Amino acid sequence: MSTSAFSLEGKVALVTGANTGLGQGMALALADAGADIALVGRLSPEETLAGIKAAGRRSHFVKADLSSAEAVAEIVAEVVKALGTVDILVNNAGIIQRNDSIDFTVEEWDSVMNTNLRTLFFLSQAAAKQMMAAGRGGKIINIASMLSFQGGIRVPSYTASKSGVMGLTKTLANEWARHGINVNAIAPGYFATNNTAALRADEVRNAEILGRIPAGRWGDPADLGGATVFLASSASDYVQGITLPVDGGWLAR
Ligand code: NAP
Repeated sequence: MSTSAFSLEGKVALVTGANTGLGQGMALALADAGADIALVGRLSPEETLAGIKAAGRRSHFVKADLSSAEAVAEIVAEVVKALGTVDILVNNAGIIQRNDSIDFTVEEWDSVMNTNLRTLFFLSQAAAKQMMAAGRGGKIINIASMLSFQGGIRVPSYTASKSGVMGLTKTLANEWARHGINVNAIAPGYFATNNTAALRADEVRNAEILGRIPAGRWGDPADLGGATVFLASSASDYVQGITLPVDGGWLAR
């Protein structure tokens, strides 16, 4: 197989939550592989837009708050208008709330479930409708977590949402494979982003986590590039419903 199976030339990718962190790393990797990129989020992602431009690709920013799924159809329509279609969707935007389960509030539950699972489902549905109408197949990549596999502690809504993401990835893969749409997930291990700032600032937890990662370091957003391009490209056309850990060996321990 030639490396051209990994090329994303002529493809349009929609990445949610790409102003920072893992979303930014994945958007830049997709642009480097040849895709034009639509970014969806609450804040204008200046740094990511500049990186896409430097890679010589087109980009478009859609301002939207993904804590509600109301705008999903408009988001897809705007991307189609600006960049022509949607071939690849990366459902990255996500939040975490930490509290003892005994004290966990309805707000802490709903906010995480809405952004991490409810909007992810309805945006996938809206993108898949566009992919089916365009008849070019498609690739959906959901961002799962180590807590799709493990229970975690003090993060009940996060664990529920990310375990849901892993299950939903299989359901959607089963239903949409016959339309040439691959639905898969990536489960990042422990990466240095805003999402893990509190953990890294806690000396005890930081040392515990680092001591358990065979690679001996926190992940860098660029570490997700290879898996993302693989799952977005025709190199993965016969890969369906998997959740691929990119974790420096965390789950192997
Ligand atoms: P991050 O730096 O906090 O980035 C999260 C992104 O999601 C930001 O762009 C954020 O935008 C966006 N977002 C959150 N709520 C949103 C909303 N209501 N509407 C629109 N955008 C919203 O965290 P990250 O570590 O890169 O996380 C990205 C994904 O990876 C998440 O799904 C997270 O659960 C997952 N993950 C992270 C790790 C890790 O170790 N870092 C491990 C496993 C999984 P704003 O700037 O507007 O908030």
